[in-house]
Amino acid sequence: MTLTARPLLRDHRLVPIWEKVGAGARLDREDGLLLFQTDDLLGLGRIADYAKRRRVGDQVFFVINRYVNPTNVCVLSCKFCDFAKKKGEAGAFEHSIEDILGMIQDGVREVHIVGGHHPDWPFEYYERLIAAIHAQHPQVQIKAFTAAEIDYFWRRWKIPPEEVLSRLKAAGLHSMPGGGAEVFSERLQKLLNYTGKAGADRWCEIHGIAHRLGLKTNATMLYGHVETTEERVDHLLRLRRQQDESGGFLTFIPLAYQVGDTKLVPRQTPPTDDLRTIAASRLLLDNFPHVEAYWIMIGEATASIALNFGADDINGTLEDERIAHAAKAESPAGLAREQLLRMIRDAGKIPVERDALYNVIKVWN
Ligand code: SF4
Repeated sequence: MTLTARPLLRDHRLVPIWEKVGAGARLDREDGLLLFQTDDLLGLGRIADYAKRRRVGDQVFFVINRYVNPTNVCVLSCKFCDFAKKKGEAGAFEHSIEDILGMIQDGVREVHIVGGHHPDWPFEYYERLIAAIHAQHPQVQIKAFTAAEIDYFWRRWKIPPEEVLSRLKAAGLHSMPGGGAEVFSERLQKLLNYTGKAGADRWCEIHGIAHRLGLKTNATMLYGHVETTEERVDHLLRLRRQQDESGGFLTFIPLAYQVGDTKLVPRQTPPTDDLRTIAASRLLLDNFPHVEAYWIMIGEATASIALNFGADDINGTLEDERIAHAAKAESPAGLAREQLLRMIRDAGKIPVERDALYNVIKVWN
């Protein structure tokens, strides 16, 4: 698609950005900062929507998936997390492999598995879990374990990420989720007590290893708490650099911080910030195929609007999401396919049902 007529831009500083995007040129850090500073949210959205439509037209993707947390028991205590419990604490859960097999219904195309950093479950439990799901549901694609969890297998059991990922892939793993990135900032790692998990370089290194092994992965950013605009932009540019190097990211998913009981800020960041973050991500991450509006964290109404602000994916049915809901997310814990279709159609877009790797299952015209 060539550059069309310039959209209405009330902030004239967006004009050079529109010209760069139209010419397929890359935005720099200064441009990124402007995307987060401009008060012309609609102008920003129009440019991001153009970038989105140039890639996939009016299509918006979703997947019939199931969310599984094997355990919420975790050795860490990240200050933004309402999900983790200590062993034996009220509300702590530890699922057996049989429990988890019982959660996966026919018709599910993707299983998304993430959990706490358990103090004593051996790596072999996770390997057996993947093998058991793959044996019982060979048609289901398994997306499992964040880079933070893969790094923890090294910290706890001294199994290097190459070996962990190779063994999981042999057991049936198809791809990796993008969690655990939080915000790539040493300041925030200390302030929010996540120095015990993979930092920017380690997180990116593990995704690079996965990409070399032929595993596709996603990436995230936890925003809307005490991070700065600069930290957001630097996070996005770090991901862009990694994608230039290893090329295996499929989707970027901005994760809106849920206030819950952790209360890093008094209230959730407003929908205007969700829309701005999605639009800025679409424009800065010019080498990411997809940007997602994660309805679980921003709600169905904002997610639908975000489909005109650069997002081309709304994740999926999820069924039993627990991490955001431990932090009192107001969205339902799962949605039926019909509700996803409505969310997409309300935005004037075409729903496309996909699998975990974006193979098209059905276009819902
Ligand atoms: S965010 Fe993850 S690593 Fe941190 S406390 Fe929660 S479950 Fe543990």
